[in-house]
Amino acid sequence: MYPLPEQLNYASYRMAKANYIRVLIDRAIHRELDYLVPETLAERVGVGSRIRVPFRDKSALATVVAVLEHSEAQGLRPIEAVVGDAPALSEQLLELARWISVYYCCPIEAVMRSLLPQVIRRAEIGWKKQLFVLPARKIDREEIEKLQRRAPRQAELLEAISRLEAPVRAADLLRQTSLENQTLRALVKRGLAEMREEAVVRDPHAGEQFIATSNLVLNAEQLLALKEITHALDSPESARPILLHGVTGSGKTEIYLQAIRAALEHGRSAIVLVPEISLTPQTVERFKGRFAEAQDTVAVLHMIVVDEEHENTYKQEEAPRYNARDVAVVRARIEKCVVVLGSATPSLESYYNAVRGKYLLSTLSQRIDEKQMPLMRIVDLRQERRKEKAIAILSEKLRGAIADRLDKREQTILFLNRRGFSTSLLCSNCGEARNCPNCSVALTFHRHIARLSCHLCGHTAAVPKKCPACGKDALIYAGFGTEKVESTVAHIFPKATVRRMDADSMTRKEAYRETLRNFRTGKIDILVGTQMIAKGLHFPNVTLVGIINADLALHLPDFRAGERTFQLLTQVAGRAGRGETPGEVFVQTYTPFSPSIQFARHHDFAGYFQQELEFRERCDFPPFKHAVLITVRSAHEGRAKLSAETLVRRLKESFGAEFIPGDATPAPLEKLQGQFRFHILIRGEAIMRLSRLVRETLDKLPFPEDVTVTIDVDPYQLL
Ligand code: ADP
Ligand code: ZN
Repeated sequence: MYPLPEQLNYASYRMAKANYIRVLIDRAIHRELDYLVPETLAERVGVGSRIRVPFRDKSALATVVAVLEHSEAQGLRPIEAVVGDAPALSEQLLELARWISVYYCCPIEAVMRSLLPQVIRRAEIGWKKQLFVLPARKIDREEIEKLQRRAPRQAELLEAISRLEAPVRAADLLRQTSLENQTLRALVKRGLAEMREEAVVRDPHAGEQFIATSNLVLNAEQLLALKEITHALDSPESARPILLHGVTGSGKTEIYLQAIRAALEHGRSAIVLVPEISLTPQTVERFKGRFAEAQDTVAVLHMIVVDEEHENTYKQEEAPRYNARDVAVVRARIEKCVVVLGSATPSLESYYNAVRGKYLLSTLSQRIDEKQMPLMRIVDLRQERRKEKAIAILSEKLRGAIADRLDKREQTILFLNRRGFSTSLLCSNCGEARNCPNCSVALTFHRHIARLSCHLCGHTAAVPKKCPACGKDALIYAGFGTEKVESTVAHIFPKATVRRMDADSMTRKEAYRETLRNFRTGKIDILVGTQMIAKGLHFPNVTLVGIINADLALHLPDFRAGERTFQLLTQVAGRAGRGETPGEVFVQTYTPFSPSIQFARHHDFAGYFQQELEFRERCDFPPFKHAVLITVRSAHEGRAKLSAETLVRRLKESFGAEFIPGDATPAPLEKLQGQFRFHILIRGEAIMRLSRLVRETLDKLPFPEDVTVTIDVDPYQLL
């Protein structure tokens, strides 16, 4: 388990009545400040309280992090008010915040921002209502293009707004488009967009009825796993985190449900973490159904469940860049509660912890009712290509299998991890591809909007008639995405109902639920989709899964490429044969002999794990060493490069012989959203110390204003 930083021992400062307090102001000042507490407020102030304090010549909101007997500081000022009745954060959560701050090299203020419930923060700044955005009127394409020349960012945002079918939260829209508030304000000023205040945050499940379910009778393996968890619940102080490794359909969720029931019966509470929004409808139903009668009372936290612990969505891609799974493990230690990590394809990190005895490994090797694991068939696309000469989206074998399922009224899932229609537009005369002006990637053609679009920055462009580089009428579409798979399949099987599920087709939440419902009730025969359909879904009538191209994930310049491929294949395959009829999976690939594919084919997790671990050890990669990835970016290539090189020199000085930073190298994704990016990769075992040295070095080094530096500890993406 990770070491906690020493500075966490604040307990000695605590006392019944507050005279002095130490606070963290909601601003990036990187420092804690002391204040006096007037007699009248003393009873109401404790660690975790939200207060208002004088700061410079204004007043500011702050969180109390310690109650002090003495303060060395001079000229202390009294606090102005206490906000709310109860502390917003418990002492344990504050301790967790400090850990996150040190471990992930992130200013504590930013960590606090992510921990404090949104509602509390907003209520205090007087922003009780939420702002929603919608188009002010119908916006036509010409208008967007006109704006494009003068104000490209506004055009980009307008484009997104014009496609909205219902008002969305302004904050969400800006986050998704990575654009600024001022861009939005400008559009409002121009009368193109409208903002509306709405008062309530609605629970998406409010008003729904859940049918109460009761405990199922567990099989022997499940019983054993549950016993291990309840045993841990009896003495959580000494319990190790539990890694529940159960093949897809082995009944892990049923174990969570019964373990949570046990915690609730002791009057304790539980938290369940489920990755990404797309998993929730089905899962939420199962949980809400089981605990239909349970009250939403605050209780002592007793257990944390992290489902699909290997999921990359647990890793935050914005500061603080923490991994929610690892934070859950640390939180469990601080709060002395039990933590269960569950997965059919555990991450190498967690599995390695289990093998070393840091975690307790609990295994479910069988599907419920001894259902067979699906039969995996590998289709060698190289041979297919020799037969057909053109790149086939569906091999002959997969086509035959789909036809067979249609005859039997069984369902099929087709998986491709790439959106759009064609992945690039090439000139067959001069070879030029249409690239994004802001990013170093090709633009993808989307048929539903009849435009080219960048999947990284959202930039869109009209489809040129002739090659803009050489002027020849020789443009060809190359590569394919889900849109094309959908239309091809619909073309080959005109009688079948085909639907697509990806970020483009599922912009509305209702669309997502509706499609799932129609698929479940058999109104859809073939579902085509991206990773949105890869995990967690349970459809008994799906007996065939086709993986259109297994190589996509494999060839990313990233040490996790193999792991991701193995996980993806296993998870997608796990969607097949969950009912009475055994499932079949077709994996189309140009590299049929790659280890990830072969081990996944034989459902051999242990074998895969062994060989992958050997590779990681040879290369000093996680889980053997921690990695810290520093990205230096700027709109000026030279300045980004120079800053990165200077930083490497300074890091070398600070590290001495302890750690060795890699050279500053152009990132695999060299240009993103108009910024040139350089990477520095550092590896080391003592991560707390490494993080601290990195932070100290950076704090001392002034960077030019147009250079941004980000630090990612335990990075998931190396692009
Ligand atoms: P996992 O989460 O491991 O993929 P699930 O918990 O979704 O597996 O279980 C797969 C299916 O088996 C579900 O429909 C679930 O209701 C059912 N199931 C789980 N445990 C049992 C059991 N002990 N007896 C009968 N059915 C079970
Ligand atoms: Zn782009």
